[in-house]
Amino acid sequence: MIFLADEQATLDLAAKLAVLLPVSAFSIHLKGDLGAGKTTFVRGLLQALGHSGKVKSPTYTLVEHYQLNERDVYHFDLYRLADPEELLYLGIEDYFSTNALSLIEWPEQGKGVLPEPDLLISLNYQTSGRQVTFTPYSAMAEQICEKLHN
Ligand code: ADP
Ligand code: MG
Repeated sequence: MIFLADEQATLDLAAKLAVLLPVSAFSIHLKGDLGAGKTTFVRGLLQALGHSGKVKSPTYTLVEHYQLNERDVYHFDLYRLADPEELLYLGIEDYFSTNALSLIEWPEQGKGVLPEPDLLISLNYQTSGRQVTFTPYSAMAEQICEKLHN
């Protein structure tokens, strides 16, 4: 568990994670209430990976594609997904079969269709600031988590 005092702390931790990520396929689920900081965390990751413009919340488009240092990065926001089956029409297999990095907000909405992530990031409100918990689902993610806590 890591305490994030303010927005900058969220961005800094995301940047720390960015340099630890493998270049092979890797998926991250981000859970937390509205306003918990999921998109902020994604913005920190994308910027640390070389993205310089704005980061749009793909609330209506469901997914936003980035190409950063020749790597495909997909940012999903499944908040408005009506049915997990809708993901099948997006051709999600393609997103996970290449060496893509996928960052998925509201993964609960894709339950039963979305594959298990490598890493789950849970963000929670505190009286002031946020608290973040990392749950690794792969050996690679376990190593990353150890480094994140140092
Ligand atoms: P979500 O995508 O989870 O709905 P956003 O990232 O869009 O949340 O919004 C989170 C809000 O909380 C933003 O206004 C952001 O500046 C703020 N925020 C992010 N991290 C922290 C933090 N550690 N402490 C306080 N506020 C934060
Ligand atoms: Mg969001």
